[in-house]
This record gives sequence, structure tokens and C-alpha cells, in this order.
Amino acid sequence: MVNVHENVLQFEKKLNESLEKAHRERSSVEVVAVTKNVSAELTKAILQEGFHQLAENRPEGLIEKQEIIGKEKITWHFIGNLQTRKVKSVINQIDYLHSLDRLSLAKEIEKRAETIISCFLQVNVSGEMSKSGIKPDEIEEFIQQLADYPKIKIIGLMTMAPLTDDKTRIRHIFATLKEYQQKIAEKALSYAPCTELSMGMSGDFQIAVEEGATFIRVGTTLFKE
Ligand SMILES: *Cc1c(COP(=O)(O)O)cnc(C)c1O
Repeated sequence: MVNVHENVLQFEKKLNESLEKAHRERSSVEVVAVTKNVSAELTKAILQEGFHQLAENRPEGLIEKQEIIGKEKITWHFIGNLQTRKVKSVINQIDYLHSLDRLSLAKEIEKRAETIISCFLQVNVSGEMSKSGIKPDEIEEFIQQLADYPKIKIIGLMTMAPLTDDKTRIRHIFATLKEYQQKIAEKALSYAPCTELSMGMSGDFQIAVEEGATFIRVGTTLFKE
């Protein structure tokens, strides 16, 4: 049995510890509940707990959940690798895309989006081959090119830390993403304000919050048995 309420209490406690440590307000972090591995029933349970930002990582999962749960009073995030041919079915159903990682995807979004889409540029900070995202030294040029894509607004950067117990390494990756984010934000580009940081998952959200995450994406910790 999953006790979502109990999980939420434990999660909020940990989150508050980290916020306190970093001298940050609760309102400075958006918690995105990742529902990719859970039923509509558990998704409803997390909404009951007062969460209203949900994330899926597959187009099919998103559409399925939205058919059952709806879109009213929910902010929908897409966090997975998005194939270009799937853009059409997804892009006008979401509020945030966390996984913009290539120009061909930007091009397709530009073609299909009916409104301006808030996007995070996904950056592969750790350099792991298995991780998607653009290389850090490509960020600036990539963003420059987006000046020609009025439907795309880069609101921030996103990364995934490697699966490791080495907390120092994870912390360094998050701190590094923040440095890149601030460098872009300083330019004050209208199409890329880049004020946000999407980083931190169940295993490392406390470190992410301490390092300045403004969006954390958590699934397992909310829905564990
Ligand atoms: C699954 C997933 C998460 C949530 O991971 P948990 O470890 O279950 O919290 C966050 N971000 C992305 C991109 C994911 O695919």
C-alpha cells in the first residue's frame, strides 16, 4: 500500500530542512510531482495533497493521464526526451517543457505551437554519454539561435545528476548549472530570461534546493510503498 499522505509529510520535512539551511522561502521552489510510474488513482491522491504541478515523460502517458485527470487547475510539465514526430501531439497540451535539447526539436515546436512555450534547456553537465542534453560549451550559441524562434521562451536550465552516492559530485553539478544559468540571465534576453533552475529528483532534491533549484521533479519519494 502506498500512503501518499505519509510520503508527503516526510518529503515536506526534508524540503523544509533544506530550505532552512539555504535561507530560502517555501514559495521559492515549485514542486513538480512526477506521475510517470503511477496510476491515475495515485495521481488524484497527490492532487488531494495540494500538489498541482504534474509531470510525465512519455507522450502516451501524458495524454492518458490528461484524459482521466483533466487540465483544469493543473500545470502540466513534460520532462522526457521528446521525439520530433511526437511534438504535434504534446506541445499544445503542456505548460512547461523541461527537455529542449536540440535545434531540430526547437524547429518543430516553432512550427506546431499555438502559443509561446516555456522551455528549459536541458544541459548535460556531468558529461555522461548516457545523458541527453546539450554540452555546456554549446549553451550560449544554442540560445543565440533561438532568437529566431518566437514561440520558444527559455525560462531556465535543466539537468539530471548522475546516479551516484557521491554527494560532493552531485552538488558540484548543480552549482555548475546555476553558474551557466546566471551567465545567460545576465544578458536579460527577452526570449531567454533564464531565471529558473530545474534540478533535483527524489534522491538528490535536498542538494538541489540547497544549490538554488527553483523547480524540483520528484516521483519515487511521493509514491513509494
Ligand atoms: C523520472 C524522472 C524524475 C523523477 O525521478 P524520481 O527519482 O522518481 O523522483 C525527474 N526528472 C526526470 C527527467 C525523470 O525522468
